[in-house]
Amino acid sequence: MPVVDFGAGRRGRAALPPVHLADLDLPGRREAVAARGLPGFRANQLSQHYFARYVRDVAEMTDLPPALRADPAAALLPPLLTALREQVCDGGATRKTVWRLHDGALVESVLMGYADRVTACVSSQAGCGMACPFCATGQAGLTRNLSVAEIVDQVVHLAAVAASGAVSGAPARLSRVVFMGMGEPLANYARLVQVLRRLTAPAPEGLGLSQRHLTVSTVGLVPAMRKLAQEGLAVTLAVSLHAPDDALRNELVPVNQRWAVAEVLDAAWDFAAQTGRRVSIEYAMIKDVNDQPWRADLLGALLAGRLAHVNLIPLNPTPGSRWDASAPHVEREFVRRLRAAGVSTTVRDTRGREIDGACGQLAAAETTGRERKAAQ
Ligand code: SAH
Repeated sequence: MPVVDFGAGRRGRAALPPVHLADLDLPGRREAVAARGLPGFRANQLSQHYFARYVRDVAEMTDLPPALRADPAAALLPPLLTALREQVCDGGATRKTVWRLHDGALVESVLMGYADRVTACVSSQAGCGMACPFCATGQAGLTRNLSVAEIVDQVVHLAAVAASGAVSGAPARLSRVVFMGMGEPLANYARLVQVLRRLTAPAPEGLGLSQRHLTVSTVGLVPAMRKLAQEGLAVTLAVSLHAPDDALRNELVPVNQRWAVAEVLDAAWDFAAQTGRRVSIEYAMIKDVNDQPWRADLLGALLAGRLAHVNLIPLNPTPGSRWDASAPHVEREFVRRLRAAGVSTTVRDTRGREIDGACGQLAAAETTGRERKAAQ
């Protein structure tokens, strides 16, 4: 049985990067600039650049004194993410960025443009400790939690890309963020909540996104789900269910051995009741594994009458995996049965497959490992 690693401070703060203004709320930034001998208004000025104009490089902030422009750490804007590679597909509508963090850890984010919206898919951890066997990120284990600013900075970078008009056929304003990149967001709980507050606070404190346009996706860490329901944040919760029965879910989502399907769904309904938000149930369709008609019926029975929506994700096969996506007619029958049970259901479009940027394909560490070998 894979060991489930929650990463709660395991590697401690030592691995975290230098403090960045996105780690702090506005009063915290004022204190931090004052501690560096700067007037408090600089905190607003820097925040305005970063959160309202998406400028991340102090050198570009011409209204700052030259000494500050030359010292990003003093300006609370140490560079946190170095782009190793940007890949584009779907005719320019999907872009994946591989980032190197200050300690060499790698993470990825994906920007997806649609006619009516632009969505950022961001990582909350380097690697992941949840060990789901069908997910590429899960295979290498957890490296560390990301800092608040390392997560926010992915979004701000992608907001700048969107604002530049680079996302084909989509609006220039980034409007949605999904925590569906690398990592288990609820295993980095305290920082995730700060990220949600930063993303939703109006500029210059934050990015001014709408709470309901943020989606937190979880394997089902029940205590954290229940806590999140109490934070006064009406974000969307997505639960990666993948099986309606414990026997199979124990295998597909190993943390189910700690919190079983019934407990996870109870916590989901509690979240829906507290926030008024419909919970999204994620279900990767895996050929001959979880796609049987009886499982559709069981899932339908569990969800009927609840504030829930099912998102079926055709499995993206990952390297070395023994699994494949369900056949189209099997998927159609699964959808039909769920809808017949009165459960609202859609099939997710799989963006970014050619650049390994689709659901469950993010595995930056492995990719660069291969490249390093190839370069030797
Ligand atoms: N740890 C969080 C968020 C990460 S992944 C979670 O598990 O919810 C976002 C979604 O992609 C999850 O529903 C995850 O189960 C799904 N996923 C992972 N690997 C996949 C794959 N190979 N094909 C399709 N979906 C996958």
